[in-house]
Amino acid sequence: ADPELSISDLVLRRAAACPSALALVDAATGRALTFGALRSAVLVASAALSSRARVRRGDAVLLLAPNCVLYPVCFLAVTALGAVATTANPLYTPREIAKQAADARAKLFVTVSDLLPKIADLRLPTILLDGDGASLPDVTLYSDLVAGVQETEYRRPPTWQSDTAALFYSSGTTGQSKGVVLTHSNFIAAATMVTSDQDQLGEGRNVLLCFLPMFHIFGMSVVTLGQLQRGNTVVVMARFDVDAVLAAVERHRVTYLFCASPVMIALAKHGSGGRYDLSSLRCIGSGGAPLGKDVMEAVAEKFPNAEIIQGYGMTETCGIISLEYPQKGRARQFGSTGALVTGVEAKIIDVKTTKHLPPNQLGEICIRGPNIMQGHFNNVQATEFTIKQGWLHTGDLGYFDERCQLYVVDRLKELIKYKGFQIAPAELEGLLLSHAEILDAVVIPLLLPKYPDPEAGEVPIAYVVRSPKSSLSEVDVQKFIEKQVAYYKRLRKVTVVDSVPKSVSGKILRRELIAQVRSSKL
Ligand code: ATP
Ligand code: MG
Repeated sequence: ADPELSISDLVLRRAAACPSALALVDAATGRALTFGALRSAVLVASAALSSRARVRRGDAVLLLAPNCVLYPVCFLAVTALGAVATTANPLYTPREIAKQAADARAKLFVTVSDLLPKIADLRLPTILLDGDGASLPDVTLYSDLVAGVQETEYRRPPTWQSDTAALFYSSGTTGQSKGVVLTHSNFIAAATMVTSDQDQLGEGRNVLLCFLPMFHIFGMSVVTLGQLQRGNTVVVMARFDVDAVLAAVERHRVTYLFCASPVMIALAKHGSGGRYDLSSLRCIGSGGAPLGKDVMEAVAEKFPNAEIIQGYGMTETCGIISLEYPQKGRARQFGSTGALVTGVEAKIIDVKTTKHLPPNQLGEICIRGPNIMQGHFNNVQATEFTIKQGWLHTGDLGYFDERCQLYVVDRLKELIKYKGFQIAPAELEGLLLSHAEILDAVVIPLLLPKYPDPEAGEVPIAYVVRSPKSSLSEVDVQKFIEKQVAYYKRLRKVTVVDSVPKSVSGKILRRELIAQVRSSKL
């Protein structure tokens, strides 16, 4: 292993090896970059960021943009300078962006004209990827920044694998989102671990569709950098719905689709309706949140020619921890998130005693390996809470079966505590989704007042979205679940709603819903 190798070196080496292959394609405009063009774009952007925007080693550059072809170009250009790429959700409010920019100590913004008003008050130097840029102070057009710059002007600074390459923020699903410090070696490990395992998925070059946001580790590390590193083509999509995704699969002959669970649910419920030619699809992978096995089965039925697999990962591990391998020639079982990727170690510990547990026993998943973050940025307390003796405590509850397949049950924090029992919302959501007339569902705890109520404590209640013509009643839904679970897990209340709140990376916004229920808006 070369101690000076950076994540950008890794991608650029591959680019040099297959210059005429397609690297990035914009799904909307069709604009495409070959690997050769990607390589020179990165080198030119790097040289320009250094000489014209004065980006130095260790400086944080904040990318705030929807997915576009220039997003990974800028990400790689920043890291090629030994600077730190940090990303934020474009849907954030100005206040949220300001907070994150301050936390990350951002020196420069890279954004698009639509988002400019959100950061105007911060008065940080800004590079605009699009638009003809009214002559605003501090704002430089990307096209002006790079105009006339030659790739030979790029000077590679001394970089170590142990240097910080990027600062990502966790999704904030369970609390305040936290800065996650990821080094070049973390990205290199993540990119090479997953792709070497993925080679088993089929011969030849893959075409991926990236509609998962690039500001999130799944979109950037797994779908974009991991795939470019392997010489695959990434089709970039900024906005999506199921139809747009399927149309893009047909148009670009996509072979490999990485999805967050909402897209899986939509595929399970709608399929393609035969409207699109999806014969190019070899694999559909899902991750990011628990997904019931009925949903996986339904997708498998609708896409008989594709392997349907699940993966598990998190920001703190720079992407994927475990991944299913296609299991040809044997009865397919769904529900597991697969085997650990090469190089990653895991143990399951008892939540109370921290004792190491054997297979088939449920406990907290702990991870060790070269992809583990250095820590939470500027937050020693959070780091010490999460990483103990080199083991990352994921906060997720799961178990291994005797075949070393990992099952992720739910987050520890989201378990509903009823008397001595614990109820995983994800289990009930999975069952609800197995009903043909339920399009989406979320289960949250309702806190019942204490004594004299015999049920005092947290009990599960559900919000469900019905299919358009369904006349399913709330009691029907309760009965449907009651038949399938232990009595204490039965739903005490069901409410029909129009939609379930989810983040752009596909996570149910349970905290928001609970807050709404507490303030009795629902
Ligand atoms: P925060 O840590 O800020 O509360 P977050 O955990 O949602 O937010 P991410 O790093 O985006 O932030 O998500 C990682 C989490 O997503 C995992 O810890 C796990 O709970 C969940 N997850 C990912 N993949 C799966 C999967 N296949 N099955 C179940 N859960 C999954
Ligand atoms: Mg988390």
